[in-house]
Amino acid sequence: MPSGLKSSPDDFDLRMSESARPFYDKVIDFLERVVDPMQKAFFKAADPNNRWSYTDEQLALLEGAKDQAKAEGLWNFFLPETGQGLSNLDYAYLAVELGKYPLGSESLNCSAPDTGNMEVLERVGTPEQKAEWLQPLLDGKIRSCYAMTEPGLPSSDAKNIRTEAVRDGDEYVINGEKFYISGAGDPRCKIMILMCQTNPDGPPHRKQSQILVPMETPGVEVLGPMHVFGQDDAPHGHMHIRFTDVRVPAENILLGEGRGFEISQLRLGPGRIHHCMRSIGAAEKALDLMVRRGMTREAFGKPLVRLGGNMEIIARARTEIEAMRMMVLRAAKAMDSLGNAEARVWISAVKALVPERVCQIIDQAIQMHGATGVSQWTPLAGMYQSQRTLRLADGPDEVHWMVVGRAECGSYDGLEVPLEPNSYADPALTSLWEEDHSFNFSGPS
Ligand SMILES: Cc1cc2nc3c(=O)[nH]c(=O)nc-3n(C[C@H](O)[C@H](O)[C@H](O)COP(=O)(O)OP(=O)(O)OC[C@H]3O[C@@H](n4cnc5c(N)ncnc54)[C@H](O)[C@@H]3O)c2cc1C
Repeated sequence: MPSGLKSSPDDFDLRMSESARPFYDKVIDFLERVVDPMQKAFFKAADPNNRWSYTDEQLALLEGAKDQAKAEGLWNFFLPETGQGLSNLDYAYLAVELGKYPLGSESLNCSAPDTGNMEVLERVGTPEQKAEWLQPLLDGKIRSCYAMTEPGLPSSDAKNIRTEAVRDGDEYVINGEKFYISGAGDPRCKIMILMCQTNPDGPPHRKQSQILVPMETPGVEVLGPMHVFGQDDAPHGHMHIRFTDVRVPAENILLGEGRGFEISQLRLGPGRIHHCMRSIGAAEKALDLMVRRGMTREAFGKPLVRLGGNMEIIARARTEIEAMRMMVLRAAKAMDSLGNAEARVWISAVKALVPERVCQIIDQAIQMHGATGVSQWTPLAGMYQSQRTLRLADGPDEVHWMVVGRAECGSYDGLEVPLEPNSYADPALTSLWEEDHSFNFSGPS
């Protein structure tokens, strides 16, 4: 059982390290100088008649920004060993800034789901797997996806996963169905990490494995995009995929049969916290838009910020952003000091807390904009949509709250907990209370 959310006075040095500090200013400058103008041109250069691919102009713009980022040493920050050697704590400060720009993360090769996949390949890949898939991902030449969720069963409990991979000689034969596989619509997506069942008769946490499946393998059929609030998110896409007798070499398995859950611990920790870091950037952006709108538009003879409870809404948003920032930094530091597996209660805490609250801040910014808030004239509608889906993706809020609650209660498991008598109460009543209310607390399993 990992330790819960306990803090000691030593845990509160959340400063960025001296060695990483120069990157912070450089990233902010790069985002303003290169990414902001590039992404405006990028979205204008899309071809509305060919939504599932990028135009040559778009690719040239994006590749230009990526080459420049590499040349300026702003590349692969997320990966402690192979990248710039940043800790999770240092990276947290940068990811908040990346979250303010739709193409910020990709321009610096720090975007989901590639970051999690690269981290897995880096940690558990064989030299051959690294050469074939990790290197082009690290170079930003290809993209990837991660396929766990299945339409027919509750995938928030990954023990349910049923897509099967059966060993046949030197190969695995894969059959099954996945949906909401983010990034699988992108023509540059060449490799998938697939969570599947290889050992149906094994113990619950040893039935699943993770296998590398090249997207172009015969039998991998992308059926189409799943929608998010009516949008298909082309060309990235959250795809519905069927696997029919898909054959991959046995050496495509990661780490070994039955070790899928171990890999999930590795992959989902950083991926989840990176989402939360970027979400704080999104909340900052929403608050900025909310204040600008509220200060510059008048109704009933006053700026909007002075009407009703709007000033308090702004105050709460700022206060909660700062509180969330502290929590995310604490979680990042716990990952650095305890390791991803031990820090998983911290990771769950921020994954449950941050997207829910950021959703609400974006919703309030939408409200301050009136109809314009849900229109195409502000980024708020898109931001809301992506934050709302984060409350499901990488595990729904409730599962993460469950992890935090279990850790909190777990340390009380089996303890005799006499209720504390209220020292101000009538002594006669207190003694009766003590007789009746000493109980044996058994925490949830
Ligand atoms: C935009 C988007 C992108 C996604 N990208 C990917 C991807 O790239 N790869 C991938 O594999 N998956 C992806 N997903 C899928 C996502 O990870 C799953 O939807 C999620 O894990 C929940 O699984 P489920 O949909 O099967 O819900 P279920 O498991 O059926 O759960 C439904 C609901 O039950 C409730 N619930 C579940 N467990 C508990 C609990 N312990 N306590 C209380 N309530 C509970 C929650 O309210 C939960 O939302 C994506 C989803 C979306 C929306």
